[in-house]
Amino acid sequence: MTGNTSEKVVEYTTGGAILMDGVRLRDELIANLAQKIAAEGDPEITLATVLVGDDKPSQVYIKSKQKKALEAGLKSRHNQLGADATQAEVEGVVAELVQDPSVHGILVQLPLPDGLDAERVLDLIPPEKDVDGLTERSMGRLVRGKPGHAPCTPLGVMRLLERYDIPTSGKNAVVVGRSTLVGLPQVLLLGRKGADATVTLAHSRTSDLAKTCRNADIIVAAAGIARLITPDHVKPGAAVIDVGISRTESGIVGDVDFGPVSEVAGAITPMPGGTGPMTIACLMENTYAASKM
Ligand code: NAD
Repeated sequence: MTGNTSEKVVEYTTGGAILMDGVRLRDELIANLAQKIAAEGDPEITLATVLVGDDKPSQVYIKSKQKKALEAGLKSRHNQLGADATQAEVEGVVAELVQDPSVHGILVQLPLPDGLDAERVLDLIPPEKDVDGLTERSMGRLVRGKPGHAPCTPLGVMRLLERYDIPTSGKNAVVVGRSTLVGLPQVLLLGRKGADATVTLAHSRTSDLAKTCRNADIIVAAAGIARLITPDHVKPGAAVIDVGISRTESGIVGDVDFGPVSEVAGAITPMPGGTGPMTIACLMENTYAASKM
């Protein structure tokens, strides 16, 4: 089923929930960015990517980030290091990118091969160029409400909520998972001024997850446990956003049991096709913002 509210196309699941389509919104955001950059006379805005080793999923992620950067009107510059690169070599490459004024954003693809200390590498990136928003200083800025880049996955969740007119102010949100990559920054973004949700952080030691989630108007599931969130966890009409990715024999599965949950939820993201594409779109938005800092 589809409906057309103002110029926005909205699709619904067979259960009647709004389908929060991350692919569609990513394409919209990237097209907007390309238009904006073209209107500014195509300034060179460069995203530098660093990949150490030949991990296949990391190669796929980097390729799709490079492709989307070009579509957004950004330049992408890739730095490939061998799997046997030393800590000093990796730090040397990142330090050069930090010094290079033609580089606006730096993305170090994680995880790094065993034996390399990712924290020390990330610590070299100043907040202005940290378009992934994952360093200690970027996280500090987020906590203190200072200008900087928020981590792309939780930022993508906020964009989906905005795009599909899901109110957050005064609403109860439950974030499942407390990692520094997703859960913790998600709590900050939902609870900060402007978003104004009342946020509960659930994790592996939460005593009754279903009961906790049933209180939520918005659930963000980022535990990495296939089909953890069932209809029993969902208040009728709630918005359910799936961040988790589990690779199973039947393909990629999220933290949300999509079919049954979409019968109860008011809005839901697909997996794949929800938060993943939005992570990449927000990386491009952060890179554009970096060029203005
Ligand atoms: P993580 O392993 O660091 O954190 C998982 C969190 O889930 C932990 O805080 C843990 O306390 C919590 N948890 C584990 N079992 C639980 C349970 N039974 N009930 C409640 N909470 C539980 O993982 P992460 O890096 O935060 O990633 C989470 C998931 O999101 C992974 O599947 C990852 O692949 C995925 N991910 C997706 C995107 C995207 O773009 N969609 C981006 C990053 C991560």
